[in-house]
Amino acid sequence: MEIERLKHYRRQVEVAIWLLIIITAAVIRFVPIPVIVQNQVILTNLIATTAAFTFVYYRLFFPRFESAAMTLVTTITFALIVAATVHFSGSLTGVFFPLLFVPLMVSVTMLGAEAFLIILGVEIAFIIFETYFFQLDLLSFSSYRRHYLTNIGALVLVALFCYLSTAEFFRREAERRKIEELADELSRRKKQDEAILRSIGDGVFAVDKDLKIVLFNKAAEKLTGWKAKEVMGKTCREIFQFKDQKGEVICSKASTCLAQKCFRTERVFSQGPLRASGKDGSEVILSETTSPIKDQRGVIIGAVSVLKDVSERSRLEEMKVDFVSLVSHQLRTPISAVKGYLSSLLEGRTGGLTEEQKLYIERAFTSNERQLEIIESLLNISRIEKGKVELTPVEFSLVELAKEAAAGFSKMAAEKGLELKVLEPAEEMPKIRADRERIREVLENLLSNAIKFTQEGGVAVSFEKTKTEVVVAVADTGVGIPTEAIEKLFTKFYRVGQAPMTESEGTGLGLYIAKSLVELHGGKIWVESEAGKGSTFYFSLPI
Ligand code: ADP
Repeated sequence: MEIERLKHYRRQVEVAIWLLIIITAAVIRFVPIPVIVQNQVILTNLIATTAAFTFVYYRLFFPRFESAAMTLVTTITFALIVAATVHFSGSLTGVFFPLLFVPLMVSVTMLGAEAFLIILGVEIAFIIFETYFFQLDLLSFSSYRRHYLTNIGALVLVALFCYLSTAEFFRREAERRKIEELADELSRRKKQDEAILRSIGDGVFAVDKDLKIVLFNKAAEKLTGWKAKEVMGKTCREIFQFKDQKGEVICSKASTCLAQKCFRTERVFSQGPLRASGKDGSEVILSETTSPIKDQRGVIIGAVSVLKDVSERSRLEEMKVDFVSLVSHQLRTPISAVKGYLSSLLEGRTGGLTEEQKLYIERAFTSNERQLEIIESLLNISRIEKGKVELTPVEFSLVELAKEAAAGFSKMAAEKGLELKVLEPAEEMPKIRADRERIREVLENLLSNAIKFTQEGGVAVSFEKTKTEVVVAVADTGVGIPTEAIEKLFTKFYRVGQAPMTESEGTGLGLYIAKSLVELHGGKIWVESEAGKGSTFYFSLPI
């Protein structure tokens, strides 16, 4: 562009103009050629035109004057400078007109306040010098310039007015420059941030409050096959079809969309493995962690998600589950057969047994039962992890179910001298709709643990109702659980203070299964416990 090109030559133009002004002024002032004295009018006008040109040139190509008011003030100031300089230099043709006016005007338009003040100083010195040493000379230029003090005073006034009226302009100019610098810095930082985000190995994308994608990094492009420019501004729902284990699309519902969960709760959510189809239809298995983005005031303005490709991990996990499932299946038949033979022996179908034989067979029978229990648990887990647990929901009363389950443990509790009771709820409990057998498994697991880990006192089951759910509490007065163990309690094979499957009783799978079953029903399970004082396990189910 033309203006850009001209800006490029700004320095050269400035130097040329200054040279022209100085040489011309020097010629007029110091060369005693009669012809020049005669042509003073022409020369003065020439210099004035140069100055005007400079002024217009800068005004057009470096439009610093932002508002009409500022332009008006500056224009009036310049008019006053011209008028005052004409007056004090004698006339438009006076030698002092260009000498005083041109440098002042050029300095103010071109170089700013500092240059203006320096020029002013030089001029004042010049007038003093002239008045002292060339008084005659000076008088011959101007009949008005009788006393140098008057001239200096006038010049200072004009300069002050000029400076004040342009001060605002210079202030804005400085501000503008600062803003430009800040903008440059910001854009540099933004580019740096973008480069960092682009280079992160995991897929990262961010959405605004309307779920529109505002950031999509290279790894996300690679994972999904979509290009950033194709997805920007579209909602994540349009682009991704993340499906959970059960094959349900989680993006389409507010209750399962991670970004919306973040907006509602201001918490971080992780989910995975999720199945996502890339742009070309190929399937990738991902895990997604979504965190809310807050502005400086703490208001949520969007959410950022990190996507990890877990296809390989998921494949290995699947192989492991398949393997466990296969082995458990294969083992169940022979172990069940052993159980059959052992019970035949115990029932005396093969004739009488000595006390010692009976004791050994009873022990073999108990161990065999435990093996079967473990196998059942492993099969259960395989089913849960493969998403193959089919729920058959029916309507039933949790209180009734708890009573039934507790009845099954009354003998075990009595043997240990423990009191086992199901407390009648103070208010009537609504019926719930769930898979009765699965919830019975959960209850049985909690009851058996409570009795197993309690030496004296008792176990009590109680109920509570909230607006949306029923909460069941299984409280015991047993050994309790140390705080540091609580968070690992519901994970696979975890047993407090023991390696998995070492002790004869328990596998460390019960609570993991209970948690999975409760969560499959849309409920939650948690525990409150104090070591040595007892524990209370809670689970909630939606009404
Ligand atoms: P298991 O009972 O087969 O070991 P669980 O998953 O049911 O496996 O329980 C895991 C561990 O949690 C138990 O080994 C025990 O250490 C602890 N635990 C569970 N319930 C209780 C309880 N009511 N009181 C104390 N500890 C418990």
